[in-house]
Amino acid sequence: MSTRRAFVITVPHSTCPIKKSPTHPCDTAAILGANALLAFLPASRTYVRVGETPRDDIDLNRVQSRATPFRKSIRNLVRRLKLAYDEVVILDSHSYPKKLERWQGRQLYLMDLDPIQAWVKRMAMQLATDHKDGDVVLCPAEDTIADILLEFREAGHKGVVIEWCEKLTTDQIMQYAQIIAEFVQRRL
Ligand SMILES: [Zn+2]
Repeated sequence: MSTRRAFVITVPHSTCPIKKSPTHPCDTAAILGANALLAFLPASRTYVRVGETPRDDIDLNRVQSRATPFRKSIRNLVRRLKLAYDEVVILDSHSYPKKLERWQGRQLYLMDLDPIQAWVKRMAMQLATDHKDGDVVLCPAEDTIADILLEFREAGHKGVVIEWCEKLTTDQIMQYAQIIAEFVQRRL
């Protein structure tokens, strides 16, 4: 029998502050990416959780935010889903500005804690091959900056951080999301 999976899409940085900030205060394409994934995943088994605190106030993807309502609600959701499904898969959606020097010109980053899980490597290869102009980079994330993933990996769940470039068109995001959604349903 095949594995019954539920999916939890988290968007910790989608809420922007009212005042302009000189740093990268919020992920403007992360919610587009989350909605695109949602469109290709089974609605009855897919949940999206969006953080409502700007990261300048508290960064919801850091260990310091584990006691916030956002993090507690994800934790409770995942615990509940684990009772009903064989696996819960976390897709943590983020985005970065196209001018970000470090990641300049690239379209999509998949990030995992070190060591990178085998299925994440396979998914990166799939994305690079199947997307018609796929430009995907796979890299390790530091534990300290990817705390949602860290928390759920510690609890034995599968997960990955997806970083969409904010220059991507909606069509491009949809194409990547479709490949990711098909992969996590059938090829994990
Ligand atoms: Zn982010």
